[in-house]
Amino acid sequence: MWRCPTCGQTFVTRGMPHSCEVLDLDDHFSGSEPNVRATFDALLEVVRRLGPVTVNPTKSRISLQARMRFAAVERPRRRHLNAHLVLTRPIASPRFTRVEFLAPYYHVHHLRLQAPEEVDEELSDWLAEAYEVGLQRHVTDPAWTKVRGPAGAPRSP
Ligand SMILES: [Zn+2]
Repeated sequence: MWRCPTCGQTFVTRGMPHSCEVLDLDDHFSGSEPNVRATFDALLEVVRRLGPVTVNPTKSRISLQARMRFAAVERPRRRHLNAHLVLTRPIASPRFTRVEFLAPYYHVHHLRLQAPEEVDEELSDWLAEAYEVGLQRHVTDPAWTKVRGPAGAPRSP
């Protein structure tokens, strides 16, 4: 694990490019309606039940990390959150606005969240799977499902 000497964030890869500008979590939500914060808190509550999690609120996003970062929300909008979670297989669901592939086998699932009720059982299951990826289960467990995407796709840093 590498710890950035400037901001103190930790990364699996040494010298990982990132934003060192760490903001207060509350500042992130200063321009959002209370429901947006409640949605984030519901998400965080689900994730914290899975095990230890580091919350990294930087200038452009709030990322959630086990060993690796496995989920994040972009800087909160007034009425919604743009969230994503990292899986090693693609999941087809109308809830995902797009699924971005990063070689060798990371599938970044983007979704929009507006209300705490949207942090439901289905999303909790996806977050539990992403948390395992955050623990690098896909590295330590040979039986873990890893789906490779198209050749020539951009690589995960
Ligand atoms: Zn840094």
